[in-house]
Amino acid sequence: MKPIKLIVIGGGIAGLSAAYYAQKRALAKDIPLELTVLEADDHWGGKITTDRVENFVIEGGPDTFLAAKPWGVALCKELGLAERLHGTNPRQRNTYVLHRNRLEPLPDGLAMMIPGKVGPMITTRLLTWPQKARLGLDFFIPPHANDADETLGGFISRRLGRACYENLIEPLMSGIYAGDGDQLSLLATFPYLRDMERKYHSLAWGAMSMYRQRLRAQRQSGSRSVFLTPTTGLAEIVEALAAYLKEHGADLRLKTKTSQLESFQVATFKPVGLPTFQHGWDVVLDTEERLQADAVILATPAYVSGKLLASLDPELGSVLESIPYVSTATVSLAYRQDDLPRPLDGYGYVIPRREGRRALACTWTSTKFPHRAPDGYALLRIFVGRAGQEDDIAWNDDYLLDIAREELRLTLGITAEPFLTRVFIWEKAMPQYNLGHPEKLAQIDAALTKYPGLALAGNGYRGIGIPDCIHSGEEAAKKLVRKDIVDALS
Ligand SMILES: Cc1cc2nc3c(=O)[nH]c(=O)nc-3n(C[C@H](O)[C@H](O)[C@H](O)COP(=O)(O)OP(=O)(O)OC[C@H]3O[C@@H](n4cnc5c(N)ncnc54)[C@H](O)[C@@H]3O)c2cc1C
Repeated sequence: MKPIKLIVIGGGIAGLSAAYYAQKRALAKDIPLELTVLEADDHWGGKITTDRVENFVIEGGPDTFLAAKPWGVALCKELGLAERLHGTNPRQRNTYVLHRNRLEPLPDGLAMMIPGKVGPMITTRLLTWPQKARLGLDFFIPPHANDADETLGGFISRRLGRACYENLIEPLMSGIYAGDGDQLSLLATFPYLRDMERKYHSLAWGAMSMYRQRLRAQRQSGSRSVFLTPTTGLAEIVEALAAYLKEHGADLRLKTKTSQLESFQVATFKPVGLPTFQHGWDVVLDTEERLQADAVILATPAYVSGKLLASLDPELGSVLESIPYVSTATVSLAYRQDDLPRPLDGYGYVIPRREGRRALACTWTSTKFPHRAPDGYALLRIFVGRAGQEDDIAWNDDYLLDIAREELRLTLGITAEPFLTRVFIWEKAMPQYNLGHPEKLAQIDAALTKYPGLALAGNGYRGIGIPDCIHSGEEAAKKLVRKDIVDALS
């Protein structure tokens, strides 16, 4: 039997997961597979990058993943990392919102960002009394009758009032998408909010029910943490994936940039009753080397995938390129505990857009994950960059460090020299699922039916979080590593 020659382009979490599940499926189903993974950068993991320095664990990109989406935990279990997964610190769980230059506690009882407990919403200083009264109208406003999409900002404002959106929901949502809620598609980002509206005729009733369910599930599972991460950082997942692939003979190539994807007709294929597998692929590298493949998984950002496909299929290429991405940066700063004017008694704070700050949020990493800084030191991480503010920022280390230090001075009164700093700049990193995104996905899916040997994976399509990216990789592997394809090739 001829092996399926599969090339995965992009060695972020989506590409490595695609390669892992492809290899695993091939072994489980006795499918011969020749697997190559191409990565432009000099390290695996893409946005997942962990710096372990002077006994600090510093995440450059993501720092945790959502436990409720099953694909992250499942992959970690398979890789033997289950015992190494930690939740966030259960003893100091405060999160704050910057409001009129003061840190106000995030009201307790939020379920998927929506207030699910009445008491904390009555006492919170994030809303005035008239704004709280407006929030209460949610119990009486009928759901939208039609299925049309709307912006996330429009939806929340319609149900809970604009102030609740701007002061509470917008900064939480920004932490996920770095996006502009007045552009983001409700159906592409938080479709369950629409379902909640339909089912409960009120977001608050829905959130109350979800909050109770979550507490029950956490009591049953014994875990209270919504987020998980391996002991010495998310790079553990990347390292385990790369080790697995190496052990199983995959050809793993770093510093190997793909510049174009071409397809050609394969002369031998079996027509009747079997899926036709007409396309073979030429993967053209920037060195002009050409690698041939029967199947290709594009696990690059959508705009890169679009460029790679542009000459083969201009229409598909341009839809992919039209998915916008926002640049962001993280700045980590370590201090001696004695240099901090106030205790870091929680996970950190988020900053609403309307506060006019250049930073987006600040994580108190050494409280959120106490093992990530040595005794006597604190580690903080500032996020910079969100949709609509990119042109106001000079994307270089010194400027970003200045923004971070200014933020820490204004909000926490920290003026000491940091013991250590790390800046990570992520150019065009966060896809924006704006209004029209579901229609783009439909166009992409329709175009892909022409290419049975091509699959897309990654954060540009159906979920930006790590579990979603892992899932996208697994789905791509399922599409391309199949017995009938080997039969068609042989
Ligand atoms: C600052 C930040 C914080 C985040 N925080 C969280 C979090 O806490 N939890 C969470 O779940 N998610 C978080 N996310 C989102 C999540 O990290 C990403 O969505 C996810 O890691 C993207 O994975 P990916 O494989 O799709 O893309 P990437 O990681 O971007 O991987 C794509 C890879 O393709 C490579 N590539 C590009 N062009 C080419 C080419 N021409 N040839 C070959 N290779 C190429 C790139 O070098 C890259 O390695 C965060 C993201 C950022 C930026």
